[in-house]
Amino acid sequence: MASTLPPPIRLITRQTGGYRIHTFISAYTGNNIADATHIIEGPTSLVLIDGQFLKDYARQFREYADEVTEQTGKPIDRLYLTHRHPDHWFGLGTAFKDVRIYALPETIDFLKEHGQEQICDHNSKLGEQAPSEVVIPQYSVIIPPNDPQILEQSIDGLRYVFTMVKETEIDFHMIIGLPDLQVCIVQDLIYSGNHLYLTAPEDMANWVRFLETMLLSDYDLFLAGHGQPADKIEVARNVEYLLAAQVAIADGLRGDYFKQYMLRRYPERLCPAIFDIYLPRLFDGASSY
Ligand SMILES: [Zn+2]
Repeated sequence: MASTLPPPIRLITRQTGGYRIHTFISAYTGNNIADATHIIEGPTSLVLIDGQFLKDYARQFREYADEVTEQTGKPIDRLYLTHRHPDHWFGLGTAFKDVRIYALPETIDFLKEHGQEQICDHNSKLGEQAPSEVVIPQYSVIIPPNDPQILEQSIDGLRYVFTMVKETEIDFHMIIGLPDLQVCIVQDLIYSGNHLYLTAPEDMANWVRFLETMLLSDYDLFLAGHGQPADKIEVARNVEYLLAAQVAIADGLRGDYFKQYMLRRYPERLCPAIFDIYLPRLFDGASSY
C-alpha cells in the first residue's frame, strides 16, 4: 500500500575511492522532524545507520537499501543504532528484524528495560505508524577505556572509529568516524538546518565541547540525525544555537516564552515540532522517554 506520508528525500552524500554514502531523510512537515538515516556502501557490502521512526519511512529506507543491493549485488552486512531515542529505533521492528544490529551496551540495556514502555507511550500519537515490536540489538559496541576512548575497526576495507559521547543530547550517544572519507556520523549531535532538541544546560555545555572538537577535526562532512548532511559552517551554527539557548535559560526564559524567543531568533530553521517534544522534559520534569 502506498504511503500517505510526504515522500522522503534520498541523496548520494559522498562518493570516493570505491565507497558511496547514501542519506535518506523523512518529511520536514507536520509533526515530522526530518529523521536522517544512512547507508555506507563499500566494495562488497552495506552498513546502515539507524532505523527511522515511522513504519512507512522504515519500510522505504529498507526498500532503498534493497534497491542498492539489487543494483550492485552487495548485501546488508549490519546496522548501527547510535542511541536510544525512539525516532532512531522504532523502525527496526518494522523493517530490519533480519539484520545484525549493533549498539552501545547502555543503549541495549535501555531498550531491554524500557523499549516496550516507550512504544506504549507513543501508540496513541502514532497510530498505525507505531512499531509492533521492540527489536533488541544483538551485538554490543564496547569502547575500551583507553585514552582516547575509541574503538577502531575495519569493515569492508574502511576504517570505522567508534566513540561514546556522554551527557549531551542524550546520556549515551555513539559517534562513528570514517577518517578515510573525512566523514563523521554524528547523528543527533547536529540538527542540520533544524531546531535542536535541547537538554539541561550542563548537557548543552558538554554538547558544545563535543562540537568544538568536530570543528577542529579533519572531518569535513557530518552526517546528521535530522536534516541534510552538514559542513563545518552548520556545526558552528549548532554551537551558536546551543550557546544562545543557555543564555536564554540563564536569563529566566521558560516554556512557551523560550520557544517564541528561539523561533524569532532562528526563523530560518525547520521542524519546530521538536519544541513540543522537549519543552515538557526540559522545564516541567516530564519523563525523558
Ligand atoms: Zn533524533
